Amino acid sequence: MRIGIDLGGTKIEAIALGENGAELFRRRVDTPRGSYEGTIAAITALVDAAERSVGRRGTVGIGIPGTISPATGLVKNANSTWLNGRPFDNDLSAALDRPVRLANDANCFALSEATDGAGAGAAVVFAVIIGTGTGGGIVVHRRVLVGPNAVAGEWGHNPLPWPSPDELPGEPCYCGLSGCIETFLSGAGLQRTDAQIRGVVDGRAAVEIHRLADTGDIAASAALDLYCHRMARALASIINVLDPDVIVLGGGLSNIGQLYERVPRLWGQWVFSDAVTTPLMRARHGDSSGVRGAAWLWNE
Ligand SMILES: [Zn+2]
Repeated sequence: MRIGIDLGGTKIEAIALGENGAELFRRRVDTPRGSYEGTIAAITALVDAAERSVGRRGTVGIGIPGTISPATGLVKNANSTWLNGRPFDNDLSAALDRPVRLANDANCFALSEATDGAGAGAAVVFAVIIGTGTGGGIVVHRRVLVGPNAVAGEWGHNPLPWPSPDELPGEPCYCGLSGCIETFLSGAGLQRTDAQIRGVVDGRAAVEIHRLADTGDIAASAALDLYCHRMARALASIINVLDPDVIVLGGGLSNIGQLYERVPRLWGQWVFSDAVTTPLMRARHGDSSGVRGAAWLWNE
């Protein structure tokens, strides 16, 4: 049995998967915000509950909104800031009395979709969660590619490629740079595009723009046109470097159905190839991919 834990800023979700990926157990609890010891206790209780419910001991994989720094062995870049600077995997391993595997949540999402999701059977999968951010992950032959700096797949803080003059220098990003892909392709990025097109301060929410574009709203359609063009450029640069067998989109903005037809029709003009056959797919497991991927961290 494989137990997966998805540690989010507001909820901790646990799942237990059987051999074939069937779901045997699932539970969500509130994240003890600000408490490191409380977070470890909550995860220990969830693992305990899963094992009691199924009647078996399991492996434990955990997805976190950050990563373990290969340089220090400590958590870095977690927006659940009480984890930063802590040896979270070692402390969990001690509390659970077994080795645990820990990965960035976008990498867990990619692993889930590569294992039995939209990218099942593909050798190289690039997957991104487009919502509040644009976190990405790369899975090669069902193994997460991490890298010596633990940033493999993190395309979101590269600059938007092939910018037009009015896209420069771009909005300041929380990372300290300006014009990052994330500032254009996140939900807030689409909202800002809508505001700029309409000449107003507050743009409409991404879900509203999507709905209005379908009803023929001219400004919303123009915002989506730009969004597709920018995503095509951003993904073309990934295809040029990695040439994945499939690209999978998850997160709130992955529900914009037009992306899957329009973006692949556009990206050929920037890909260094006469033909581009890369499929762009919607995540199969939706919001469950993060927690399923955490469980699949033990997949050999
Ligand atoms: Zn940035």
